Amino acid sequence: MKNNSPVAVRFAPSPTGFFHIGSVRTALFNFLFARHYGGQFVLRIEDTDVARSKKEYEDNILENMRWLGLEWDVFARQSERADIHATELQKLLASGAAYVSKEKVEKEGDRGEVIRLRNPGTIVTFHDEIRGDISVDTTDLGDFIIARSPTEPLFHFSVVVDDFLMGITHVIRGEDHISNTPRQILIQEALGAPRPIYAHLPLILAADRSKLSKRKHGERVALSYYKQAGFLRAALINYIALLGWNPNQNEREIFSLDELIHLFDIAHIQKAGAIFNEEKLRWFNREYMRTQPPELLLQDIVKVLSKRYFAGAVETLAPKIVSSIRERVSVTSDVETMMDAGEFSYFFETPVLDAKKIIWKDTSTETTRAHLEKIISFVTTLTSDFDAEKAKMVLWPYAEHQGRGAVLWPMRYALSGREKSPDPFTLAAILGKEETIKRLKAALVAIS
Ligand code: GLU
Repeated sequence: MKNNSPVAVRFAPSPTGFFHIGSVRTALFNFLFARHYGGQFVLRIEDTDVARSKKEYEDNILENMRWLGLEWDVFARQSERADIHATELQKLLASGAAYVSKEKVEKEGDRGEVIRLRNPGTIVTFHDEIRGDISVDTTDLGDFIIARSPTEPLFHFSVVVDDFLMGITHVIRGEDHISNTPRQILIQEALGAPRPIYAHLPLILAADRSKLSKRKHGERVALSYYKQAGFLRAALINYIALLGWNPNQNEREIFSLDELIHLFDIAHIQKAGAIFNEEKLRWFNREYMRTQPPELLLQDIVKVLSKRYFAGAVETLAPKIVSSIRERVSVTSDVETMMDAGEFSYFFETPVLDAKKIIWKDTSTETTRAHLEKIISFVTTLTSDFDAEKAKMVLWPYAEHQGRGAVLWPMRYALSGREKSPDPFTLAAILGKEETIKRLKAALVAIS
């Protein structure tokens, strides 16, 4: 970066929709850049499009920025800077760089006035830190409109004035703004404003390589969706930082926010679109979940299961199943998905057994009955506080000798009533001695 002034960057969202992954990435890159260079991070809400801007969206952006830990140094709302914009516009009118043009305006179809920039009609060349030099012939733009009236500047004008007066040194924003840059440079030049350094970030693509969009990909583009599903902020930050940027640390993928700040550079941002892969995000989340104390997951499990099952029973059960759930989930919302699939029902309700399913493959009913009776007698020898290890120690030699499937399948099915469930020793330990024996006996009755 050959720029000696202190670094200042801005994240300039228009509050016209919920904070989405693409905006999060733009905010994050600006934040990382500012913190890396000890510069200033400006949050500027571009709310001049009154018809589309909503307070609710602004609140959503601010709330989520805070939640992610992307604290800004300066806050501004573009709508509150109208006087500043009007003053700068007057300067252009006074110097003749812009002029009032009487013409048919779209509004009501009558004759009105607009303000146009006197376009020198040159080839504008600018350097983009990611894409290299870009040249655009601006003759075709003609004397484009920069304001509807001396007090109603349009988007490009406000952006340029604000970047100028806020001392923005680097404009880091989405690639979709590349086509706006030549116009904005012409306005800058008319204002005598210095040209910031540009870095246009690659698009974020869905798995099918189409542009990630609300219309096509629905709620899964919004940060709130991931927050509600229980994704951890550190996992989101870590994953989103790698959407188009490579920290150049070999195969390493896990980085804390401080490490990201330390490593961040524009030089390793790629040109090609970055694929947003939810599975990969889940992998990151799982990695971060593992580093959390198990009590947090326990609390979440209690919360989820209490929606459906009796709270007292949930509190007794949850500590017994937390470690097995921990092995299987990537995000807390998976607990709910498991519950909806009936994965915990057998802990709370006596399973309804299908007699045919109790028997393993071509084992005979008599043999199965003998195995179940034997299992009951083994379980009877256990002390009432037995754990899965103890149950296995007692039952395993018999199962090995008689055929694991023939012995353990009926046991597991009798205890869960499901074809898929944790192993029978774990189930028995969680259900306890009395309930285990009761269910094994019920299976005996079912096959006789
Ligand atoms: N407000 C614009 C947007 O949300 C961004 C403007 C800019 O970054 O220059 O798309």
